[in-house]
Formats: sequence, structure tokens, C-alpha cells
Amino acid sequence: MAMTGKDDGAHNHHTGEGHHHAPPEDIVVRVKALENLMVSKGLVDPAAIDAMIEQYETRIGPHVGAAVVARAWSDPAFKARLLADANAALEEMGVSRLQGEDMIVVENTADVHNVIVCTLCSCYPWNVLGLPPTWYKSLPYRSRIVRSPRETLLEFGLAVDAETEVRVWDANAELRYMVLPQRPEGTEHLEEAELAALVTRDSMIGVALPIRSGGHGA
Ligand code: FE
Repeated sequence: MAMTGKDDGAHNHHTGEGHHHAPPEDIVVRVKALENLMVSKGLVDPAAIDAMIEQYETRIGPHVGAAVVARAWSDPAFKARLLADANAALEEMGVSRLQGEDMIVVENTADVHNVIVCTLCSCYPWNVLGLPPTWYKSLPYRSRIVRSPRETLLEFGLAVDAETEVRVWDANAELRYMVLPQRPEGTEHLEEAELAALVTRDSMIGVALPIRSGGHGA
């Protein structure tokens, strides 16, 4: 299989948090046409579509996962529950399952670095991370993170120690993964809300580390 290497777009997006790429015009037109058709046939209520979009754009996002991670860093008992049964622990925090899929949280340690992917399509833990970044859905990421995880992570700027095992978790329609990153050193004094601010989307995918407090890495 041909690898497009450095020009595949997987590397241009991960530094640009929070901005949206406009989809191609033909897709916009097709989506609009489908929506109009479904509304005209009485299949959907346009208000319901607006509500769903509003939910994805504003209420669901990486801040949800960041709060979960910060809680796990602050509360060892919660962390144990999160790793043992993420579905129940997330429910404790009011995070619901959007489509009934199961969630597994995998913990980064000094010995293991975890990263998530959906090799088949684009399955992603929406309920904790919101909408997936474009590169996550790209074929180059989906294939290369499995075949050469260390090299791919390096392209995201993440050098994993040679002694640290890299585990790649392949999501599917029934099962989603989220990475519990390692708590950065020097954050012992931080409150839960301050910790949450260090937890980026990419650190919960596993292609980055949390922001280090004290100005580095931000
Ligand atoms: Fe998928």
C-alpha cells in the first residue's frame, strides 16, 4: 500500500485546536439536500437536527473527557472504578453513552503508552471527546498508527521511550477507548479544575501528552 508520507494532512491538524475546517462544497450541498428531503417527508424535525448539532458543537467536547481525567488523577478510588468499569464511572460523572457503545479507559504508565484508532472507519469516543479531528478519520493515520506506531507518534511530536511499550487500541461500533494520560510531574498542588485544563484532546487519543504546568508544552 502506498504511503503518502509527510503530505497526507495528518500532521497539519493536530496543533490547531478548536478551529473548524470547512467541508467541501459538494458535501455541504448534498447534506443540505438530504436534510430538506427528510424534513419534507416528515422523517425528521429540523429542530431536532439543530439541537443535535448544538449538542455536538457546544456541550460535548474534550472538556468532558478532561474532567474525567482530572477526577481520576485526583481521586484514586474513582480512577480504580474508571479503569475497572468505565461505563459506570462515566455515568457517575453524568457522562452518558450516546449510542449504547461500551467504553474502556486505558491507562498510560511509565511502562505502557496507549493510543486509539479505528482502523475500519472512524469510531471515536464522542461522549467524552466530541467530534473527531480530521486526521483521526484519515486513511494514513488509521493504517500507519498500527503498522508503525512509534514513527507515527513521532510525527505528532511525541517521542515514546524505547523501554515503553506502545499499545494501539482499535475501536469499533460497540467498543470505544479513551486514554487516561499520565499526570504530569509537578502538578501535585493543582486543583481538579486546574488539572483538567492540562488535558488536551490529543492526550486522550494518545498522540500527545498533557500540557505540562509551568508554561512548558502549552
Ligand atoms: Fe469506526
